[in-house]
Amino acid sequence: AKELGRDNFQFYAPEFNATVHEKFLLQEELRNALARSEFTLFYQPQVDLRSGRVFAVEALIRWKHPTLGLISPMKFIPMAEETGLIVPIGDWVLHEACRQNKAWQDSGLPPMMVCVNVSARQFKDSNLISRVVNALADSGLEAQYLELEVTESLIMQNVEIAVATMNELQSLGVQISIDDFGTGYSSLSALKTFPVVRLKIDKSFINDLATDEDDQAVASAVISLGQKLNLRVIAEGVETDEQIAFLRKNNCDEMQGYHFSKPVSAQDIMTLLNEDRGD
Ligand code: C2E
Ligand code: CA
Ligand code: CA
Ligand code: CA
Repeated sequence: AKELGRDNFQFYAPEFNATVHEKFLLQEELRNALARSEFTLFYQPQVDLRSGRVFAVEALIRWKHPTLGLISPMKFIPMAEETGLIVPIGDWVLHEACRQNKAWQDSGLPPMMVCVNVSARQFKDSNLISRVVNALADSGLEAQYLELEVTESLIMQNVEIAVATMNELQSLGVQISIDDFGTGYSSLSALKTFPVVRLKIDKSFINDLATDEDDQAVASAVISLGQKLNLRVIAEGVETDEQIAFLRKNNCDEMQGYHFSKPVSAQDIMTLLNEDRGD
């Protein structure tokens, strides 16, 4: 390797640089992504288990990078959270989801909810309330058609402050649900005070629902907890008939998952909902 010479010392650079370097590049790209309009929202239907009807869609962000391709939110949302970029990105998501939901309504679809994920940094941002007010005002969407998904673990970081913020949001008329429920150790007494309309059972408890008795115990406990507290309960990550059978038997209210539909573009939601209505 002698002939490589001095300039090629990086040839010997240890592996550790790769991921750090990749992360750095991705952060740079993330900084530019909003201005370059590289984000888009996909929507996944949420279905009422009794009627089989779609009553809501969850907005899920997608990053289409011109050379890196499609980048998963699992990869860039934590990075956006770390860097604070989640605040402007989250603001874009809010505006876009409200605009799109209003556009669906204006096109003649029956009104439904749009659910938007709110991350920790966004939730703690002192401008959160005015950002939500602006998204509603700019889009013309009525507050009752916007639902915010806040994770259980985020709420549990500081219950008192979280409840105060949720109360403010609720007073705007928007609804709140607890995402990833079952993973964040809410106490019953705390849960009672949350101004929320529903609990989302985390996917991790649904995956092996057909066979895993522990998961069955958690899922049925969350469902009966919801019933006792008068909250709706939705299961996420539903893929199989067996999972649905269990959820039905245990009186779960709602489901979301690949069994019904993967997250799809706004255009495809139109098609899907028109088929859903076509009876
Ligand atoms: P999440 O909020 O728990 O969203 C559910 C995730 O499960 C989504 O992944 C969805 O595509 C996926 N999923 C839904 N049904 C199924 C199923 O039947 N099987 C399987 N295997 N997966 C299913 P996605 O879209 O990759 O999003 C991952 C996470 O990234 C979300 O988890 C959420 O935490 C975050 N995220 C996505 N969009 C946004 C956003 O706009 N803002 C913020 N703050 N976070 C977002
Ligand atoms: Ca969610
Ligand atoms: Ca989840
Ligand atoms: Ca119920």
